[in-house]
Amino acid sequence: MSTSTASDARQPLVGLGRAELSALFAEMGEPKFRAKQVWSWLYAHGVTDFEAMTNLSKPFRARLQDRFTLARPDIVTELASTDGTIKWLLRLPDGNEVEMVFIPEEDRGTLCVSSQVGCTLTCKFCHTGTQRLVRNLGPYEILGQVMLARDRLGEWGRKEEKRRLTNIVMMGMGEPLYNFENVRDALLVAMDGDGIGFSKRKVTLSTAGVVPMMERAGDEIGCSLAVSLHATTDEVRNEIVPLNKKYPIAELLDACRRYPGVHNARRITFEYVMLDGVNDSDADARRLARLLKDIPSKVNLIPFNPWPGSAYVRSPDERILKFQDIVANEGLMPAPIRRPRGEDIMAACGQLKSASQKLKRADRDRLAAEASAA
Ligand code: SAH
Repeated sequence: MSTSTASDARQPLVGLGRAELSALFAEMGEPKFRAKQVWSWLYAHGVTDFEAMTNLSKPFRARLQDRFTLARPDIVTELASTDGTIKWLLRLPDGNEVEMVFIPEEDRGTLCVSSQVGCTLTCKFCHTGTQRLVRNLGPYEILGQVMLARDRLGEWGRKEEKRRLTNIVMMGMGEPLYNFENVRDALLVAMDGDGIGFSKRKVTLSTAGVVPMMERAGDEIGCSLAVSLHATTDEVRNEIVPLNKKYPIAELLDACRRYPGVHNARRITFEYVMLDGVNDSDADARRLARLLKDIPSKVNLIPFNPWPGSAYVRSPDERILKFQDIVANEGLMPAPIRRPRGEDIMAACGQLKSASQKLKRADRDRLAAEASAA
């Protein structure tokens, strides 16, 4: 597996875009075509060893090896659910940890990627919201998740129609639009047709509603957009998604209307977590249908995924079905109910990381107790 350690002073080569690779090799005195060759080894073949770059001279490979690493983030734990979902806790070069989840379905396989260590948003129903923000992930750490997933799923070199990993969603830990440049740079590499090659439609950026960044996201990344709406009144949304106090529902929906490239063939996905007695009434469903009427939309109804200490309860199944019926019929839009996945492996956002921290804390406490006893 990966060999990155905090003591390794070499830089990751993964995560560099085309322009950066070109500049680097110009600086190293290499001919122009070098960037193209290395790009292909990195992102089309996914090699993890410079020795595998067989069309480069041995001395040049050695020079690369001296300065750079091809390591992926380290795997702390890899948990496979009985339903096929795989969840990883990853350790970054500085010791911080983030989560990544692979969710296979009949017609696709989706990788849920993190953009930050922790999060600043404090959404009340989200477990990551209870962890403080530590830092933004760099392009290497975001793209490294995709590459590591490809390693683990054996995807490199597999024909497109045979691939298990078909979609990327920026729905892991963090708010991607608060880490715009790094997320953009990583996704542009992931969507580059000469490399990893995900189509823009199969990459979705999910935001809690950072309104001032949404237009840039459309212009500069151009992937699909998901918006974590979760409520139909500012009163309720202020409570469960505090970012709403800064960018209320009307402003958020205006930004959606202006999202570059929004049209019927490419709907915006609105995520709506079903919280018993909070946002799941018939009146909410009607308001939701009305709010989204003039936006090409799809509503993902997400049964709340509870975590230890959470203040909410998942809406009952009948309630979710009734809500779905109203949204679909009055809003004339698809409103699928997301099936909870990976419940046996704590796949809900942020849970694995907290468990790992608790363990570490327990370890520390034990060691402290032993030390003071000695
Ligand atoms: N910050 C971004 C992306 C990360 S969260 C955003 O807010 O969109 C990805 C999605 O998971 C969001 O829609 C979020 O609201 C939802 N989510 C978080 N915790 C959840 C839980 N416990 N149950 C169900 N959905 C949850």
